[in-house]
Amino acid sequence: MTTEELRDSLLMKPKNGCTLLTAEQRAEMESYCKRYSAFMDACKTEREATDWAVAACEAHGFKPLVPGMEIKPGDKVYLNNRGKAFLMAVVGSESLAKGANICAAHVDSPRLDLKPNPLYESDEIAFFKTHYYGGIKKYQWTTIPLALHGVVYRKDGTVVTITIGEDDNDPVLMISDLLPHLAADQMQKTLAKGIEGEQLNVILGTQPLEGEGGDLVKLNVMKLLNEKYGLIEADFRSAELTIVPAGRCREVGLDRSLLGAYGHDDRVCAYAEIEPLLDMGTPTHTAVCILADKEETGSNGISGMQSQAFEYFMEMLCDAQGVKLNHCFANSFCLSADVSNAYDPNFPETCEKRNNSLLNYGVAICKYTGARGKSGASDASAEAMGHVRTTLDNAGVLWQTATLGKVDQGGGGTVAAYMANRNIVTVDAGVPVISMHAPIELVSKVDAYMTMLACKAIYLA
Ligand code: MN
Ligand code: MN
Repeated sequence: MTTEELRDSLLMKPKNGCTLLTAEQRAEMESYCKRYSAFMDACKTEREATDWAVAACEAHGFKPLVPGMEIKPGDKVYLNNRGKAFLMAVVGSESLAKGANICAAHVDSPRLDLKPNPLYESDEIAFFKTHYYGGIKKYQWTTIPLALHGVVYRKDGTVVTITIGEDDNDPVLMISDLLPHLAADQMQKTLAKGIEGEQLNVILGTQPLEGEGGDLVKLNVMKLLNEKYGLIEADFRSAELTIVPAGRCREVGLDRSLLGAYGHDDRVCAYAEIEPLLDMGTPTHTAVCILADKEETGSNGISGMQSQAFEYFMEMLCDAQGVKLNHCFANSFCLSADVSNAYDPNFPETCEKRNNSLLNYGVAICKYTGARGKSGASDASAEAMGHVRTTLDNAGVLWQTATLGKVDQGGGGTVAAYMANRNIVTVDAGVPVISMHAPIELVSKVDAYMTMLACKAIYLA
């Protein structure tokens, strides 16, 4: 053999996905990304994503799964976990004793939650106090348009849904930063300390009501909230209100190859999981899609992936077939669909390029996550990686491998460990992201599209 022939037959030849798509695939990708963008514009919180999923499932013939329900192959069922997390399944032709094919993503994203007593006035400006949720760089959240999303449980027992800052006619909210002219001391601080948590106070208004006494700006803000939503200050105590970046998912770059949006982590994988399942016929193995909450804070709590809500859902399906839940888990496979960090030439020193995911090279398969010595990792076996490799290759899905940065630099985790701890073979995979956890994150259309094809192939494996 010549050297050239040896190179062709022995070595990998990764290619940029943009150069590999046929005209037909490109058109499908563009149309997929339009639907994904619409999903992103509608869903900025786990509640909004859950509501969206319920409506989409209802429109596609899915029924709520309830205890004692009879189940037959091809049945489409879902469980709304208290409005904050979501599970759906299409029942396969094989028994659940043969296991399920599961894709698990999360629909919570880093943001600023309002504190339980958020509203105050200082020097004739009204503010909300916030407590950041998930890993953020605090300085990134100042001087950008912000929106208020969430629900309030009012004294009369009714729940009101609030969205302010997304409609073009709405005002937006904002957090201030210091002018550079007076920032001599601030500029000496580290990025971690330049803006601190207790400075992430959201400006609500500056106009006092006419009258005597203090806090007339605060009172005016409360009056506006009362007129529009019927709220009184005590209602904040039974509310989940959150501050997120205002605005829509946008095409980015002169070639429009990227999408910029708040919360690609991890709704870009969540959407990739839902869409192929909505129209799926009867798969061989039962296909299960999970939209989890609380991944960004450790997957704890009733709507997080460590919750027994997953067992509750799967056990109802298993009971209907007389199958033991543990038996089903032992034969199941889970794609933990979460984003990875795309290599960014602006920060080459943080990554080991040979093993980092790259924009446009397809869905990134991550054998292990964790940090510094694989701590906290769910390390997928050779067999599990082999299963994914074969499945994706056979389905013509463009994929690459990924690790999260240089070994000593840091790391991260996903829900993978919590799935694997249940005795379910699990592999991490997802879309490479630039500026992960920033108010606006970037992904490539090619990678988003390939991740959807990957989820579809896993369901059908
Ligand atoms: Mn994530
Ligand atoms: Mn994250």
